[in-house]
Amino acid sequence: EKYIADEKRYAGGMEYNRCGRSGVLLPKVSLGFWHNFGGIDYYGRSRAIARYAFDHGITHFDLANNYGPPYGSAELTMGQLMDDDFRPYRDELFISTKAGYDMWPGPYGNWGSRKYLMASLDQSLRRMKIDYVDLFYSHRYDPETPLEETLQALVDIVRAGKALYVGISRWPLEALKVAVKYLRERDTPLLIYQGRLNLLDRAPQDEGITDLCEKEGVGFISFSPLAQGLLTDRYLNGIPDDSRMMRDHFLKRDVLTPELLERLRHLNAVAESRGETLAEMALAWILHQKGVTSVLVGASSEEQLQKNLKCIAAEPFADGQIV
Ligand code: NDP
Repeated sequence: EKYIADEKRYAGGMEYNRCGRSGVLLPKVSLGFWHNFGGIDYYGRSRAIARYAFDHGITHFDLANNYGPPYGSAELTMGQLMDDDFRPYRDELFISTKAGYDMWPGPYGNWGSRKYLMASLDQSLRRMKIDYVDLFYSHRYDPETPLEETLQALVDIVRAGKALYVGISRWPLEALKVAVKYLRERDTPLLIYQGRLNLLDRAPQDEGITDLCEKEGVGFISFSPLAQGLLTDRYLNGIPDDSRMMRDHFLKRDVLTPELLERLRHLNAVAESRGETLAEMALAWILHQKGVTSVLVGASSEEQLQKNLKCIAAEPFADGQIV
């Protein structure tokens, strides 16, 4: 049936943060297409999640060339969603994609060359059936390719009208500094940095990435904010059959050590004392960190998204409440 977006989609509690020193506002909760939108997933479910998101003010969908599986298929799902539901709302959506990891065979389908980035984005646009993305990322730092080559490709992609803004993901601090300067000097300022920051992994803070982003007016979006589901009630009492840990090799069972389980149970108790779920608290904690623009969640159901959206209204944290 024809999709008509909820007319109250911007009045349901979603809040928007300015992304660094830019004109762009991003929802505090954004939706990632890494899992649950591939060719192996049931389209009806993916579609329901995407509709639920947009109906609740989630205007930012995050993709990458190789999300699936198989590679490319999450973008094909996005293309189908454009045809089925979202074409009339294109200007209300902020769609990102990336290149940097393994995508196609041979020397030109991986890492950070101009050759790879240019070809990959053209493929992504065809799969998603859109003529530009809002944001294009270098998905990872490539120690072999000169940074200037990768960065100039980003600049030229914007100049060619194929992306409105550019970002980088998982680049080390020193390379981030080079990127900020290089892109600013070419009037294509770095919009955003995508890194993993959550209650179990504070590397971007420890490494000075979030501080630098804040100082330089670059947004920061946290991927895997729930540590792929660990920071939820999913694994507190065993490993459910339908969970990512059971179905997928990206979240290995051996991470769930007795020590981690103890920590998760402790965090869960803190959440309960705040009247929140662990997921809600974990997301709220990230959103309260300095320099953070948005949390980029994944969801395998609308119910999960619904629970996760509660983080927006969560209370601030008392000193020492979470360490
Ligand atoms: P999360 O840490 O949010 O984990 C999402 C998973 O947690 C869900 O798929 C679901 O798994 C479980 N979950 C979510 N909400 C709940 C809830 N309320 N209760 C119980 N379980 C819940 O994020 P992802 O790891 O999925 O990453 C999010 C996005 O970040 C990706 O889609 C991608 O866009 C981006 N990303 C970017 C990377 C990069 O290199 N730049 C790397 C990784 C991700 P289940 O299947 O068990 O239900």
